[in-house]
Amino acid sequence: MKFRKNVARALALNSSLGRSITFFMAGLLLAGIVTCVWTLTRSWDKTVQDAERSAINLSVSQSRQAEDTFLQAELVLREVRRNIPQEGLASITIPPFNTYLAELKDRVPQLHGVMVFDAQGIMLATSLDKRPLMTNYSDREYFIYHRHNNHGSLHIGHVIRSRSTGDMVIPVSLRINDAAGGFEGVLLATVKVEYFRHFYGYFELQDRDLLALLTTDGTTLYVRPYGDETINQNLSSSPLFTRELSQKDRGHGTWVSTLDNIERIYGFARSERYPLVVAAGYDKSALWNSWLRGSLPDIVLNAMLLLGTLLMGAIIFRQVRLNVRNQTQLATLRDELTSINHTLQLMALADGLTGLANRRQFDLFLSQSLKNSAQTQKPVSLIMIDIDYFKRYNDFYGHVAGDNCLRLVGDILQKLQLNKNDLIARYGGEEFAIILPDTGPEAALFVARRAVSMVRGAKIPHSQAGGQHAVVTISAGCYSVIADADFDDAIRLKEGADKALYQAKIEGRDRAMATSDS
Ligand code: GH3
Ligand code: MG
Ligand code: MG
Repeated sequence: MKFRKNVARALALNSSLGRSITFFMAGLLLAGIVTCVWTLTRSWDKTVQDAERSAINLSVSQSRQAEDTFLQAELVLREVRRNIPQEGLASITIPPFNTYLAELKDRVPQLHGVMVFDAQGIMLATSLDKRPLMTNYSDREYFIYHRHNNHGSLHIGHVIRSRSTGDMVIPVSLRINDAAGGFEGVLLATVKVEYFRHFYGYFELQDRDLLALLTTDGTTLYVRPYGDETINQNLSSSPLFTRELSQKDRGHGTWVSTLDNIERIYGFARSERYPLVVAAGYDKSALWNSWLRGSLPDIVLNAMLLLGTLLMGAIIFRQVRLNVRNQTQLATLRDELTSINHTLQLMALADGLTGLANRRQFDLFLSQSLKNSAQTQKPVSLIMIDIDYFKRYNDFYGHVAGDNCLRLVGDILQKLQLNKNDLIARYGGEEFAIILPDTGPEAALFVARRAVSMVRGAKIPHSQAGGQHAVVTISAGCYSVIADADFDDAIRLKEGADKALYQAKIEGRDRAMATSDS
């Protein structure tokens, strides 16, 4: 709760300007963050798309290269098959044929060797210099394959170790039929795995990027950057075979390699001519790191912009808070001044002792009442009141008691229940005056008599009053005029009331008298 209050105060939320700026800054900040995230996301997506495109291109070009490599081997084998005499394999004259095979092999650098086997798997001819110790090849996969499959197309087998040289080679073979169409033997060309290792080494790839040549049954022929241990691995459970190649011949995808558990962005392409697949994969985490390094200036710049916005917001909030505080202080000061002013006004118009209107207010009110009377032609009445034998009261009871007596008389006059337009004032000394706008002489005399009677009835002791009751009494004189805008109206009214008061004093005090113009 306290925290929320502090936050609200810090953000100047308690003022409308503060709220507007807070929402504006928050919007700006949010827009900045969203734009930054959006830009970075797009930049990363583009990096991934570029990697996918590059991986597809690499895999397509390498599948073409693999096709060419094996096509050259196929052409060599087909030429050898054409050059086998009509009489069959038995009629081959071995030493010249070996030389012929060696010449053919030398023309195609990727070839490791070219060999001819008879129907029993016995090697009849070879391009290799030294013949292997074991010359029966009937156990080889390619030999068994051709013995059972009577077709003339090329067969590409899994990687084997050469029995003559010990090199890792990919066997590429054709079946030889006799004149009756029966199985007569096998023509074999072996392609060096080293050739692919060497060729794939030309590409500028990261340490954990991958370039693999596979057969369509999911067996690896060569995987860069790995050694011989990854050759002949069965990857048929990889998403490349279970998901991608079942739908399309080329494309891209991201998956974790079953070979080394590294997530890569892959491109793949299936050869149109041979049962081969090439996959090129870029290490996703390396790509991310390099993207992050490349985007670092952008990220830092955006972060600085956001920080700048925050800082600017903080400065503005601080300024707004100061303004709000100043405004609050000013408002409090203004209220205090207004209140003081009001008190001063009241003090200027009120009598300090009795709280009644003072002489100043009396004059203002009388002047206004006479103006109204001049307009409305309704009478204004004035009652002048004077405490009887007040000098004696003061002399006998002292000035403090005298002041108290003045206050009591004032209180009694305030209880007269006059109209709200009437004004009771302390005229001066022990004299009071009542202005009665819109009031004629009779009503004024009635009020004056009630005042006299109420003061008498209050029974304020006055042993020196000389009358029968020995209480404080007052005398009152009334006069009424209908103003005619003459500047003498006020004087006329006061003199008339004074005259009546004088009359009341003469006639024995403790009474009210009225005089008229006549
Ligand atoms: P009369 O009945 O003829 O009016 O006699 P009076 O004694 O009341 O009249 P006078 O004018 O001779 O005396 C007025 C006295 O009122 C004089 C003064 O001592 C007293 N007085 C005037 N102002 C004040 C005041 O503010 N306080 C006190 N205690 N006495 C006042
Ligand atoms: Mg007097
Ligand atoms: Mg008097």
